[in-house]
Amino acid sequence: MIRSIFIFVLVALIAFGAVWLSDYPGDVRLTWGGIEVETSIVVIAALTLIFAVVVALFYRFWLWLKRGPGRIGAVFSNRRRERGLEALSSGMVAIAAGDAAEARRQAIEAEKTLGGEPMTLLLAAQAAELNEDDRAARIYYDRMMERKDTEFLGLRGLINRARGEGNIAEARRLAERAEELRPGTLWVQKELYELAVKARDWEAADQALSRMARGKAAKGDAVRRARAVITYERADVARAQGKTEAALTLALQAHDLDPGFVPAAVLAVTLTAKEGASRKLNKLIADCWKKAPHRDLADAIRKVVSGEQPSDWFRRARETVAPHNPDHPETHLMLARAAMASNDWGPAREHLMKAGGDAPTTGILRRLAELEEKANADAIAAREWILKSVDAPQDPLWICRACGRQEDHWQAHCPACDSFDTLSWRQPDRGPAAGAALEAEIVPEIAATEL
Ligand SMILES: [Zn+2]
Repeated sequence: MIRSIFIFVLVALIAFGAVWLSDYPGDVRLTWGGIEVETSIVVIAALTLIFAVVVALFYRFWLWLKRGPGRIGAVFSNRRRERGLEALSSGMVAIAAGDAAEARRQAIEAEKTLGGEPMTLLLAAQAAELNEDDRAARIYYDRMMERKDTEFLGLRGLINRARGEGNIAEARRLAERAEELRPGTLWVQKELYELAVKARDWEAADQALSRMARGKAAKGDAVRRARAVITYERADVARAQGKTEAALTLALQAHDLDPGFVPAAVLAVTLTAKEGASRKLNKLIADCWKKAPHRDLADAIRKVVSGEQPSDWFRRARETVAPHNPDHPETHLMLARAAMASNDWGPAREHLMKAGGDAPTTGILRRLAELEEKANADAIAAREWILKSVDAPQDPLWICRACGRQEDHWQAHCPACDSFDTLSWRQPDRGPAAGAALEAEIVPEIAATEL
C-alpha cells in the first residue's frame, strides 16, 4: 500500500516536473573538443533520470553477488541433501520390506551424500543387520555410541546384539547405561526386567518389575503372576542359603500373590511344617488345598509328618485335607493313592473312579489294573483296564507353552528353550506315535497275563 502510494507520488512529481520544464524551456549547449551539442533542458533531465536508474540497477546486482559467494555452490549442496534424504527414505522402506540388497545400496548412497548424520548411521546399522553383517553392524553402533545424540539409539542396537549372542552380562551393562541416559524409558525398563530374569538375578528382577508396574508398563494379573514366580524363586534361594525364616516369609508372599500357583503353595507348606506351628500349618494346608489342589501339594502335605504309616496318611488326608475341596479330581486322586498305599482297596477303587470321571487318564486306568491284580488277583479285569488305557488321555505334566517340553517338576525357566514361566500343568496332546509306543509296551504285559 505504502509502496504504491510512493510510486504514485513519484510518477506525479515526474509528470509535474516534465510539465514545468516544458513551460519554461531552456537551452543547454555543450562544447567539448571540436564537438558542439545543443539540446533542450527536458532531454538533459530525461537522460539524467535514465542514468540514475541504470546505476541503481548495477549497484543492486553487485550487492547480490557480494552477499552470496556460495550461491552457486548452495544450489548444488541442496540437491545433494535432497538426494541423501531420498536415499534415507528409500532405505527405510527397503528395511521394512526386508530387501537387504536395496537397503545396503541406499545406506551407502545416504552416507555418501549426508555423511555421519544420526539417521544415516541408523540406516547403515539396520541394513548391516538385515545383511547379517555382524561386523559392520557393530561398527555403526559403535559410531553411534560416540555421539551424544545417537548414543541411546546405538545402545538399543548393541543390547539386541548382545542378547542375540547370549551375552547377558554385556546386555545388562548396556541396558543400565541406557537407563542412566533416559531414566524410565519403557523399552529399557522391559529390557532390564527380562535380562534380570534371564540372569536369574531375582532381586534385580523384582525391582525392575516394581518400576515397570509403577510406570504402568505392565499391569494386572500378568504382573501379579510374574511377581509370584519371582518371589517364589527368591524364597527358594533363601531356603538354599539356610535362611529359613526369610524363605518362609517370601513363600507365603508368593502364595498370597497367586494362590493357584502350586510351587509356592508346596514351598509354603514345607517351610511352615519345619517351623513346627501346627495350627498355622493346618490353616495353610486348608487354604492351599482349596486354591491349588495338586499332586505335588499332596506329596508335600504327606511329607509334613515324617515316618508316617500309609494308613495314617490315608486317614489324615481323608479327615484333614479332603474336606477343604471334596469334589475336586485331585482330591480323589490323592485319596486313591493314599488308599492304595495302605491296601484299602474299596475306597481306592471308589476314588479312582471319581478322579477319572468320564475320561480317565492312562495313569488312573493303570492304577485300576494294578488294583484288580493286587486286590482280587483278577488278571482278566486287569488286562481290560490296560487295553482301555491305550487310547486314554495322557496324565497331565508340566508342559512348556513355548516349545512343548514335558517336565515332571515345575521350573521357572524351561530347560529346553529357557522361556520364563511357561511350564503349565496340563495333559499332553496324544500324537499317533504315543499310542503306538504304549501298545508296544503293553503287548508283553498282556502276553504275560494270558499265560
Ligand atoms: Zn520350552
